[in-house]
Amino acid sequence: MRGARPAHPSWCDRQGCEAREFHATALVPVAPAGDEQALFEVQLWQHVGSQPALALQVTDDEVTAHHLMTLRQARLLIRVLARLLVSAARTRRAAR
Ligand SMILES: [Zn+2]
Repeated sequence: MRGARPAHPSWCDRQGCEAREFHATALVPVAPAGDEQALFEVQLWQHVGSQPALALQVTDDEVTAHHLMTLRQARLLIRVLARLLVSAARTRRAAR
């Protein structure tokens, strides 16, 4: 990104991309209620010359871990989560 001004993707927050050497959205909290054990936050992320990726940040017990996944992995994760949530809903209904 040195030299010419970086071309930001439309979703970029444009907050110091040149210095941090990647484009990103703001972190989006998954569970903003604040009563969960762990805080999950996600953001769209793109290093110069790479494809966009999804960054998952997990904070638990004051320890924060960062994980990057490809958009393909993110799409597959959505499907897996949806299947698991449907299974969990069936179990809840059966337990009533
Ligand atoms: Zn940017």
